[in-house]
Amino acid sequence: MKNKRSIEAIIAPPAPHMVGDGFRVHGFFPGGRIDKKRMSPFFLMDYNSKVEFSPSEQPRGVSVHPHRGFETVTIAYHGKVAHHDSYGNSGIIGEGDVQWMTAASGLLHKEYHEKEFSRRGGLFQMVQLWVNLPAKYKMTQPKYQEITQGMMGNYSLNDGKGTIEVIAGEYEGIKGPASTFTPVHVYNARLKKGGVADFNFPSGYNTGLLVVEGTVLVNGESAPADHFVLFKNEGEQINIEAVEDAVVLVLSGEPIDEPIAQYGPFLMNTWEELEQAINDVNAGKFGVLEE
Ligand code: MN
Repeated sequence: MKNKRSIEAIIAPPAPHMVGDGFRVHGFFPGGRIDKKRMSPFFLMDYNSKVEFSPSEQPRGVSVHPHRGFETVTIAYHGKVAHHDSYGNSGIIGEGDVQWMTAASGLLHKEYHEKEFSRRGGLFQMVQLWVNLPAKYKMTQPKYQEITQGMMGNYSLNDGKGTIEVIAGEYEGIKGPASTFTPVHVYNARLKKGGVADFNFPSGYNTGLLVVEGTVLVNGESAPADHFVLFKNEGEQINIEAVEDAVVLVLSGEPIDEPIAQYGPFLMNTWEELEQAINDVNAGKFGVLEE
């Protein structure tokens, strides 16, 4: 017998802050009631709730910065982001698309509004997740996975009232395209008004969901847009019902049970490894990327 999974908290969006001049984000975690390990392997979630950017010839964004020891996952709901890194990779994350970047041993990165989007201005809404890597994978080669909406696993709900887009992991036998280092499930549940979807994760997996659009009932409790629902590690079953047309980002993963040492954009296991990361950046070992 599976049991209903208990809700630990329904969290309102924290006051937003700017990341560079291009991202106005609510830092849902780490912080507040979700400490550095509570959603492991998901370490960080920055949510740029819907905001209208005015037209700008000069694209807004975040200038060159390093990353080491984890993956950044950028999910675009509205607007477009262009990115470049010190390995010579670049691309555009379009509406509905995801970029799964394994920073691992380290790279330099910059993220800006895509030129044409910037010129026209418009509605912008994104999520960036930092997915931690276990010690044995922290120093692997960086890589990218460009996951367009069309590549995602797509499960149609029986009543025709929605779809589950599987970005990573598996839902009802439908697999997501992302390759991951530890078991994680990442879905977009796109539900029409009245649509109902059920989810089932092991109780030991840390699990939460972000309501990106609309109001939903989560195991009968109302969760409005821009709120994050954190589940206890008790029970398995989650039921979502859309009160109005809704989009819900569902996250569940097996915790990484290792020490965490973080300094800015470095996510390691020990302080010594953080020092090493800083030294390596200063020594030019993360490569070169023009502003
Ligand atoms: Mn970055």
